[in-house]
Amino acid sequence: MTAQQARPALELVDVRKSFGPVEVLKGISAQVAPGETVCLVGPSGSGKSTLLRCVNLLEVPTSGTIRVEGEEITAPQVDLNALRARIGMVFQHFHLFPHLTVRRNITLALTRVRKLDKDQADEVAELQLSRVGLGQFADRRPAALSGGQQQRVAIARALAMEPTVMLFDEATSALDPELVKGVLAVMRDLAGTGMTMLVVTHEMGFAKEAADRVMFLESGQVVEEGNAHELLTDPRTDRLRRFLSQVL
Ligand code: ADP
Ligand code: MG
Repeated sequence: MTAQQARPALELVDVRKSFGPVEVLKGISAQVAPGETVCLVGPSGSGKSTLLRCVNLLEVPTSGTIRVEGEEITAPQVDLNALRARIGMVFQHFHLFPHLTVRRNITLALTRVRKLDKDQADEVAELQLSRVGLGQFADRRPAALSGGQQQRVAIARALAMEPTVMLFDEATSALDPELVKGVLAVMRDLAGTGMTMLVVTHEMGFAKEAADRVMFLESGQVVEEGNAHELLTDPRTDRLRRFLSQVL
């Protein structure tokens, strides 16, 4: 890049969110550059999920502006389906449809929202499933897969929509310990391929290795942010230091 910086993939300007009288997000401003992976860390109840949910408008911010590739998604006339196709989200619980095959879980939105025909959609599903190491499981139902495999299907499903930004909300927190590694490996690969990612995680090893930047959220405010490795190795604030001593 020259002096002209690349346009942020994601930009938040003074985003606030209240539930009733309680302000949960107290003016969050942040930018995520194209291809950057930012880990959002912080104690339970600090507003991490609410922030991610605001980015794909599962929650509407009380005030502030969110832009995806420069386009204001908090504008009143925004097309929610089009927006959500550009923002992939992976949750703690995988939310796969139990009665559908793995392949159909992935192709459903492709045929219904993206209007691909069945063959095209199947092709995309095969491609994304092999990307997460599950090419051979397309005909199974989710229940026949381990939790880690199901989460990788959820990732493949999000990727199939060719999102601009991927959001992960504690994607490995509900998994048995031995299944966490495989999911983190997929996420690490994804970060390495230049996907723009905003990742809520308590996996500090992952954050240190795979993230470009870390934001530490407490009580709805960004308390500290910076280079992932530096910040997690040598936090500047006592609050982050204390938090890290509890999660590590
Ligand atoms: P985190 O993901 O960091 O644990 P959350 O974003 O889930 O935090 O929650 C932040 C705060 O907002 C918590 O105090 C939670 O109880 C509150 N909160 C979240 N969603 C709602 C809601 N829909 N209605 C009322 N309060 C909520
Ligand atoms: Mg949460």
